[in-house]
Amino acid sequence: MTALTDLAAALATGRVRVIDLTNPLSAQTPTLRLPEPFANLIDFSLETVSEYDAPGPFWKHANIHTGEHIGTHLDAPVHWITGREGHDVSSIPPARLLGPAVVIDITAQVADDPDFLLDIAHIEEWQEANGPLPENGWLLVRSGWDRFSDDQDAFLNADETGSHTPGITAAAAEWLATQTPLSGFGVETVGIDAGRGAELDPPFPAHYHLLGNDKYGITSLQNLSHLPTTGAVLVVAPLPIVGGTASPARVLALVEETA
Ligand code: MN
Repeated sequence: MTALTDLAAALATGRVRVIDLTNPLSAQTPTLRLPEPFANLIDFSLETVSEYDAPGPFWKHANIHTGEHIGTHLDAPVHWITGREGHDVSSIPPARLLGPAVVIDITAQVADDPDFLLDIAHIEEWQEANGPLPENGWLLVRSGWDRFSDDQDAFLNADETGSHTPGITAAAAEWLATQTPLSGFGVETVGIDAGRGAELDPPFPAHYHLLGNDKYGITSLQNLSHLPTTGAVLVVAPLPIVGGTASPARVLALVEETA
């Protein structure tokens, strides 16, 4: 297994670095807030059961309480009505969760317009410069939104007209889902659709098309600025919750030093 021996050596010497793309999970982690009349999930919390005391004199342990779609997490096909016959989070083949990652940078557009939507033309332009989207890979959208990842209000950026966060057009979502060999699509925002995704046709097109075509979503990523445009390898590790529509996930990127 020369490839793995080489990888282990590169990790040991620092020639390959591990970048954590995960937002730390706590009761303060920003989460989605659906408007009335929809029901929201609970936020994450830790409930201490013992702490080196009478209920457990030599140990500390806790219960975790959380919704599935909290913090950095993976959306499985069964999350959406279009994917209801598809994989739950425990049945996604693990080989689909590791693969090449490429980054498309929309920070300039989002700085001018928080409602900016990535369209097919932007991705085609990216491909002209960087090559085709990779087989079994992940397209990660760098929007700069991770700078709000410890601030609920700024992260959702909501006003009386709804949440204003960047996303993808319905046409681009359908194109990614049906015309590319990707495994999934990742974003820095609270969900894989734009804040105003409900106004698109179909509503929430990233969920509709990607999850309906056995592609997966990852949200609330950070540190994408540390990734090269192409050449990183992504490791997405959701909990295998049987029947689960999503899970908080540790998302790591392997990046090769070019110096
Ligand atoms: Mn989700």
